[in-house]
Amino acid sequence: MNILVLNCGSSSVKFQLIGTDLERIAQNTDERLARGTIERIGGEAIVTLQSNGREPQRSTAPLRDARAAIELILRWACSETSGIDGIKSVADVHAVGHRVVHGGERFTYSVVITDEVLRGIEDCIDLAPLHNPANIGGITAAREVFGPGVAQAAVFDTAFHQTLPDHAYLYALPYQLYRRHRVRRYGFHGTSHRYVAYRYRQLTGMAREKTNIITLHLGNGCSAAAIRAGDSIDTSMGLTPLEGLVMGTRSGDIDPAIIDFIAAKEGLSSREVETLLNKQSGLIGISGLTNDMRELLAEAHENDDRRARLAIEIFCYRVRKYIGSYLAAMGGADAVIFAGGIGENSAEVRASICPGLEWMGLELDAERNAAQIDGHEGLITRDGSRLAAYVIPTDEELLIARDTVRCVRGVPQRF
Ligand code: AMP
Repeated sequence: MNILVLNCGSSSVKFQLIGTDLERIAQNTDERLARGTIERIGGEAIVTLQSNGREPQRSTAPLRDARAAIELILRWACSETSGIDGIKSVADVHAVGHRVVHGGERFTYSVVITDEVLRGIEDCIDLAPLHNPANIGGITAAREVFGPGVAQAAVFDTAFHQTLPDHAYLYALPYQLYRRHRVRRYGFHGTSHRYVAYRYRQLTGMAREKTNIITLHLGNGCSAAAIRAGDSIDTSMGLTPLEGLVMGTRSGDIDPAIIDFIAAKEGLSSREVETLLNKQSGLIGISGLTNDMRELLAEAHENDDRRARLAIEIFCYRVRKYIGSYLAAMGGADAVIFAGGIGENSAEVRASICPGLEWMGLELDAERNAAQIDGHEGLITRDGSRLAAYVIPTDEELLIARDTVRCVRGVPQRF
């Protein structure tokens, strides 16, 4: 089956076209056919399209909405110039898989999208007011473009973390706030943490029930997950993706009293403070320079910028603290896995996170660490290290495509 994987944001659509089916999943022979991004939808959009093995094609086009973007992707995919084998018409796209950010407590697995499911995703808008409406817009647009004959599936960022025990997902707030408004930890990046855990099992031959690992998704958004016996038992993001690690523009954990304090001192509304915590904090807030780790590292090296260094230090320190707390929460683990743009590419950041974990038996191998960049995957600790560390490039799109196949075929899922 050819599966179109869509990740629809408020003004962007990212997609991949993946050839897969139940047999190919079993043999791990899924095939990436094409990928691309369309940004600044609503005006003159910036379009990047790439079929497998070819150079990316860049262009601009006036695109009104997600529907126009999906139509453009399809026109390109079906054209001679795309160079994608086996895609000649819309009928060659057999199903669509959507990344959906918030599935609340209702969606514990990926599902085929029905009207009722769509209402369920709408019910979660309160919990993800920026993301779920955009995801719903993408689903509605794809339904219009493909019609009822093409099945669509929703794959939720939150679903993998629905195995958290209540002592991990409940905040120490008045309990009725959970009962009335479902205020609790949901966690995000679930598909990434799930992929990394799956891939770790493949690399090591470990059974699911014996998979005790800490996964670190370190990108522009960052989160950690404690995975015990294959299940997520804790994760750093909470009700929203603001909690936990230091991120590109998000503060991560802070004392909640800071919010009112800043509001009073700076004369800001609570909404403005929320924006400050989401958009002006984290790496960019501390450094005053950039949210981009690569640029920060360059500033630290080339200009010896003190605040760039500080931002990197605070970032790494917070990750190390989470590793320590999850080791305690899990009663020890076998491996720590690095993923996401920073985790996959920066040997330097990994090397700054690990010191202090030797007492737990993590012995970083400098040469292996330096070699695992640019999409390489593998071990970065010494042989015999009691706590291993790996770099595993994440691949959420692959899991979305596979979940879509399983949903369409009615095969039971096991995360
Ligand atoms: P993501 O959101 O997963 O795409 O990750 C984006 C983050 O990864 C940004 O902060 C980038 O600066 C960072 N990143 C990508 N490549 C590198 C690299 N070679 N070294 C350090 N950070 C990198």
